[in-house]
Amino acid sequence: MDYNAIRRKTRQITVGGVAIGGDSPISIQSMTNTDSHDAAATAAQVKRLAAEGCDIVRVAVPDIAAVDTIRALKQDPEITVPIVSDIHFDYRIALACAEAGVDKIRINPGNIGSRDRIAAVLSACRERSIPIRIGVNSGSLEKDLLERHGSATAAALAESALRHVRIAEELGFFDMAISVKSSDVTKMIETNRIISREVDYPIHLGVTEAGGLERGRTKAAVGIGALLAEGIGDTLRVSLTADPIYEVREAKSILDVLGIGARKQIEIVACPTCGRTKIDLIGLLDRLESEIDRNGLRDFPAKVAFMGCVVNGPGEAGDADVGIAGGVDEAVLFKRGKIIGKCPSDAIVGTLIDELLAMKAAGLN
Ligand code: SF4
Repeated sequence: MDYNAIRRKTRQITVGGVAIGGDSPISIQSMTNTDSHDAAATAAQVKRLAAEGCDIVRVAVPDIAAVDTIRALKQDPEITVPIVSDIHFDYRIALACAEAGVDKIRINPGNIGSRDRIAAVLSACRERSIPIRIGVNSGSLEKDLLERHGSATAAALAESALRHVRIAEELGFFDMAISVKSSDVTKMIETNRIISREVDYPIHLGVTEAGGLERGRTKAAVGIGALLAEGIGDTLRVSLTADPIYEVREAKSILDVLGIGARKQIEIVACPTCGRTKIDLIGLLDRLESEIDRNGLRDFPAKVAFMGCVVNGPGEAGDADVGIAGGVDEAVLFKRGKIIGKCPSDAIVGTLIDELLAMKAAGLN
């Protein structure tokens, strides 16, 4: 299934040099968790995230003093990744961020205050071609919607987002993306379905407050993955209570699994092990994963088979570029379905890495 072929066509916005929506690749976002007043630490984290493959980085701007950090990021010649200011309520911070050259502002027009203030922010954004993201979370739903819908239902969340959209539209502003996030995956899926039926702005997907690495990644993969498989979603952020580097890795992985990632990744087909396994396949896989990262092979789109035994191994992974099938203290090495030799257990990881590096150097895949 080509999920790009069923992708819903939206308007396109441009954040820095990165297009979101339309036929642009689905972009990956993350957010810094350094102190927003510490420009050096925030810049260092922005660079790490960009090096990991993050397309757009968001920074919380809790007060006017933190705008200095946005200015520093935009003036840093080593930072080319677009920067988004995350602002709640205070229109002066939004104006200052626009002035500082930020690439996008996450703010909800309905929360800024008077119509004059909303108009001032949107006009500052329009002058500099800065798009905004309207971001609604179940935790910040307006009181009247909560009362009318009884709770933060999918319909209530969608209505809240669309209310902010209409305010911007009434002021002639259309350069925006929308996100509606919930920690409840089914609600997040349903709300985004509603939004995608109602408007054609690009949609930013995410499961908010998803949790730590294990549960959080599952929630993100299910929620974001389900919508992408329906053709909904133009950019995404995986939210994890962890180093944001893991958010980028998980986002890349979700896109790669669905075959819609801009950067293809290495695929390791590993068997689950069973009573036939005679080598430490689990331990060896841990080592292989770290060596893949250490040797810069994560983004090399080869298929590696890592099988516990020769009974099913080579057959089950016949279309792998390279692979092993474990025996007793050794493994059979095969390449594109053909056995090419054997290697002792302690040489398995090194041999596979050498093969992959040779394939990469020869420009295979
Ligand atoms: Fe078991 Fe072999 Fe299948 Fe692995 S490949 S699960 S060791 S039968």
